[in-house]
Amino acid sequence: MRRAVCPGSFDPIHNGHLEVIARAASLFDEVIVAVSTNYAKKYRFTLEERIGMARETLASLRGIVVEPVGEGLLAEYCRRRGASAIVKGLRSSSDFDYELPMATMNRQLTGVETVFLPAEGHYLHLSSTLIKEVHTLGGDVSEFVPKSVLRRLGSGGAV
Ligand code: ADP
Repeated sequence: MRRAVCPGSFDPIHNGHLEVIARAASLFDEVIVAVSTNYAKKYRFTLEERIGMARETLASLRGIVVEPVGEGLLAEYCRRRGASAIVKGLRSSSDFDYELPMATMNRQLTGVETVFLPAEGHYLHLSSTLIKEVHTLGGDVSEFVPKSVLRRLGSGGAV
């Protein structure tokens, strides 16, 4: 059983995330979408909402589970869950520069490998932050997020 972890805050999950998760699911027997909470960060959605949106969206795909990471090191979480790899999407060289030291550290900590998948061209510009900003200012983000997210984002628009 080859198990991988796709970690992130998913605030909210968007089509760029979904594309990488689906590709990870084609490479591994099971993919855990591990939803993190960093207490120093301010989120638009609660942990329960972020998990709920990911679960609703991914419900029809086999071999994918969504769960909270909980506190502590991601490398330790992967070891506890029997995951041999962390899968990350790369949008740019700055993503790579940010991810490389973490990948090396995680491997040195518990032996977990990191697999990088190049982001799909259509979704290279997508981030949860940009989607929330565009939506708040009244832009149409329906092309970039699943229906469960669009519903929860509400009507948007600048005040
Ligand atoms: P963070 O936990 O840093 O807030 P996110 O929750 O936004 O990150 O994203 C989690 C992971 O999803 C990122 O580390 C990255 O690997 C991947 N990702 C984010 N946006 C995209 C995208 N547009 N295309 C492909 N992968 C992406």
